[in-house]
Amino acid sequence: MNFPTTQDGLYINGEWLAGDQPLRVINPATEALLTTVYGGDERAVDQASAAATQAFGPWSSTSGAERGALLRRIAAGVRDARERLMHLQSSNNGKPLFEAAIDVDDVAATFEYYAGLAEELDVRQDSSLALPSDDFSARIRREPCGVVGLIVPWNFPMVTTAWKLAPALAAGCCVVLKPSEVTPLPELELASIIAGCGLPDGVFNLVCGTGLAVGAPLASDPRVAKISFTGSNAVGVQVMQRAAETVKGVSLELGGKSSLLVLADADLDLAVELACGGGFFNAGQMCSATSRVLVADELADEFLQRLKARAEAIRVADPFDPDVEMGALVNQAQFQRVLGHIDRGVRDGATLLSGGQRPEHLPRGFFLQPTIFTDVPLDSALWCEEIFGPVLCVHRFSRQDEAIALANDSRFGLVASVVSRNAEAAGKVADALQAGLVWINAPQVIFPQAAWGGYKQSSLGRELGPWGLAAFQEIKHVIRAV
Ligand code: NAD
Repeated sequence: MNFPTTQDGLYINGEWLAGDQPLRVINPATEALLTTVYGGDERAVDQASAAATQAFGPWSSTSGAERGALLRRIAAGVRDARERLMHLQSSNNGKPLFEAAIDVDDVAATFEYYAGLAEELDVRQDSSLALPSDDFSARIRREPCGVVGLIVPWNFPMVTTAWKLAPALAAGCCVVLKPSEVTPLPELELASIIAGCGLPDGVFNLVCGTGLAVGAPLASDPRVAKISFTGSNAVGVQVMQRAAETVKGVSLELGGKSSLLVLADADLDLAVELACGGGFFNAGQMCSATSRVLVADELADEFLQRLKARAEAIRVADPFDPDVEMGALVNQAQFQRVLGHIDRGVRDGATLLSGGQRPEHLPRGFFLQPTIFTDVPLDSALWCEEIFGPVLCVHRFSRQDEAIALANDSRFGLVASVVSRNAEAAGKVADALQAGLVWINAPQVIFPQAAWGGYKQSSLGRELGPWGLAAFQEIKHVIRAV
């Protein structure tokens, strides 16, 4: 795929513009420069917020059917551009093409799902409320909350965007989107699809740029009613602090340190596949990575043997290699960060069972071997912190309640997985886990209809499903004397 030397990094009030902040965009599999995107700073945020504010009145009074039709057009545009979006996702993020295909399909499905919810708003925007009095009647009305700022990371570009953008537009909000400066290319392509779908000018605006130049002023902007942020906990806290100055609504999707529990009656082959999927999909750069694997004593030796063999057979390769199973990490900084965690884990006394290095056959690009640790000290960074790389920590347990306590012993609580042949026992374990989503004997499948988000410091609020739409709505209560 050929890339232009430079690309406009701003879409404001229906116009593509070049900002004056160059962002070098790298292919993580080759370390080659793909292009330079010209993003903006607080002046671009100011223009985008002004455009969105002006567009809000007319846009918020469109019918749900009108907004739904536009969202369906976006979904169709995404489907038509599937190959191109997949290539951009893999070129810019380093993920295998087959994973990029899952991302693009998820984006289209999300826009389609929220098109349906937008259409339903025409009949469900207002609902009556029973009061304990015959003297009054009441209705509840759902209204769009205003101009919203969407700030997203690099690990699932377009997907994290769609999960915010589709419900925001469905609700009738106007948007200023800030993609990650690391992965603007698939986001720019998605934006150009949206730009071609006939949204009124100013309803959707995009400002590429760094967190400090664009994200911070967006979080402070008094015209922005709400910030929906996905990213690290450290930045999420900063965003929340800035948003507090103007008492904005805030939704946060942050980090995780999730567990996969292999119960004593588990199907071992399934457990190994799910451990590899939960640890190595997207090279482990997932907030939902099940990077802690808790395995029942009875199975542990056999499980570790099979897991090691499977991990060592995983084909780490260029994202466009037809047999690739795991691609590259997103950039040099992330590569060094994960290697640093691996070194520190060894120094802290953990046993490196497998991997831990760059694969010998890949001298360039940010490639790492799938990595497995055992005997990990339970107070080490490796056990407690989000690594965001292809690193699994396996720990044995003798009692189920001990496994549940270990899984819950975290400041995070995003997801969890349980592997067991006993449906009832697995269901009880799922109920005891402090996590927003639990998979039983299943890979990490996600549906736009179901809620996404976690307990504790993983999230504030929920995305997807009707909860994702409600996050962009205000509730108005109208009481009338009868
Ligand atoms: P990050 O926090 O560094 O950046 C996220 C976004 O915030 C980027 O667009 C960045 O430019 C912007 N930003 C940076 N500093 C800012 C500031 N001061 N003010 C406003 N915006 C700022 O995260 P990342 O490295 O891009 O992504 C990885 C993190 O995202 C991981 O911690 C991961 O767990 C999390 N994540 C969570 C979910 C979820 O659903 N819970 C999904 C994907 C990623």
